[in-house]
Amino acid sequence: MREFTYSSLPMRVRFGQEAKTAVIHELQRLGAERVVVLSAKRQAALASGINAALDAIGVGVFEGAEMHVPAASVQRATRFVRERGADACVAVGGGSAIGLGKAVALELDLPIVAVPTTYAGSEMTPIWGITVGDRKRTGRDARVLPRAVVYDPRLVAALPRAISVTSGFNAIAHAVEALYAPDLSPIVQVMASEGMRAMLAGLAGVAEAEGDLEARSESLRGAWLCGASLGATTMSLHHKLCHALGGTLNLPHAETHTVVLPYVAAFNLEAAPGARATLAEILGDQNPAARLQELARGWGAPHSLRELGMDDSAIPRIVADVTAQPYANPRAVTSESVRRILDHAYRGVDC
Ligand code: NAD
Repeated sequence: MREFTYSSLPMRVRFGQEAKTAVIHELQRLGAERVVVLSAKRQAALASGINAALDAIGVGVFEGAEMHVPAASVQRATRFVRERGADACVAVGGGSAIGLGKAVALELDLPIVAVPTTYAGSEMTPIWGITVGDRKRTGRDARVLPRAVVYDPRLVAALPRAISVTSGFNAIAHAVEALYAPDLSPIVQVMASEGMRAMLAGLAGVAEAEGDLEARSESLRGAWLCGASLGATTMSLHHKLCHALGGTLNLPHAETHTVVLPYVAAFNLEAAPGARATLAEILGDQNPAARLQELARGWGAPHSLRELGMDDSAIPRIVADVTAQPYANPRAVTSESVRRILDHAYRGVDC
């Protein structure tokens, strides 16, 4: 008999409709009268298009979202939103833009509508993160959970294949760690398994034809379910490691997740037979970690942390960071085991 507690988050998802129409509908539901659109520079055209569609209630675009949500960009965005007298924001883009939206919601306590254009999954969680210096602080706060999330597969149709694959593996990492989380429940088991199946099928389709809207729709559906699994559970060693690598060394988020996941899975699944069985069934392979690595590499993902620009002299610092405080993990985490995982990931050793 397994005991569990499940608490559902108040999340509203609109899937499949054209983003501009759906965003306007959601803002009307919220009674918003002055709306700022937040994005990164590379998604500025998309943000401007949404701002134009908002007509009179659109009061500006802030296009200064940056990777890992630096505190300085949060200050600039907050000032911009305050000066425009906004009562709601639309965050459009990848996890960086959505993360900025959450940070603004935390500062100003106003509602956010999220329009994700990657598979990172941040829109489904009440977790915020802000980087101060070389440290990323995170926390949970119900105020940062977007009031509505608009998933429009057309917006990911142009996501380059390389980003699609690594972002997809970022989502898969949420599902893998949810499946051995201490607070796994039957609902999360279903969400994580189905999310991973959908993402793998979607990525296989995208690998064949980048612009295939059905495949994009499937991968975005996977991103939703994997993100919801992240929002409903406690993450373990894999997320802790990637958080340290990203925050401290500024390594790219999705790529880091993709490289590290198979090594942590190989380590943790030895102590998580339920998760191992589920993953073996989904992947059709008795060695899920090796199969994940094979799929990612087959779809063109980077092989090693060295390739991502990491210097191996940083390994001791990351080991110290990751082992400084205890946290949930199916298997005891020692300095030696973390060092071995990092060494293998650094060199891109086969799983
Ligand atoms: P990102 O937002 O920086 O996007 C990655 C790259 O994709 C960028 O170069 C961006 O310009 C490009 N891009 C985005 N959409 C595109 C599109 N439609 N077409 C072409 N290019 C596009 O990074 P990410 O991987 O989406 O998210 C990573 C961030 O999200 C990290 O800061 C991470 O910590 C955070 N995150 C937070 C949570 C949470 O629950 N708080 C969950 C997952 C990720």
